[in-house]
Amino acid sequence: MKIAFDVHGVIDAYPEIIYPMIKLLQKMGNEICIVSGPSKLLLFKELEKIKFYDIIKNHEVEIYSVVDFLIDSGVKMWKDDKGNPWANEEDWWDSKAKICQKHEIDFIIDDSEKYRSAFDLIDCTFIHIDELI
Ligand SMILES: [Mg+2]
Repeated sequence: MKIAFDVHGVIDAYPEIIYPMIKLLQKMGNEICIVSGPSKLLLFKELEKIKFYDIIKNHEVEIYSVVDFLIDSGVKMWKDDKGNPWANEEDWWDSKAKICQKHEIDFIIDDSEKYRSAFDLIDCTFIHIDELI
């Protein structure tokens, strides 16, 4: 199985639970990846801060970024006053389902219900973090 985790509200909210969970799932033969909003570069930095350093450093876990995906897709994007990138709502909320479809991910664990409806159309199960923890 290929299983994706979100960072904000999932990994960064419950690092002490998610870390061993990822290790266990890997030991059971599953492939783990991260699907999250910020650029891959930013995600790398954030994961280092919460001691997910070894997992990402050894490339045991692939990281897929919504922002990078939208830029690569040629979607119109802009930055707010703080320099955070934005896209229109429809493109943004469909993006995680598109990423999961592209990379044949079976499950995604996320904290934002707004991503869920796009998963009705593809062969990937959306699990809200509250259903898990
Ligand atoms: Mg989140």
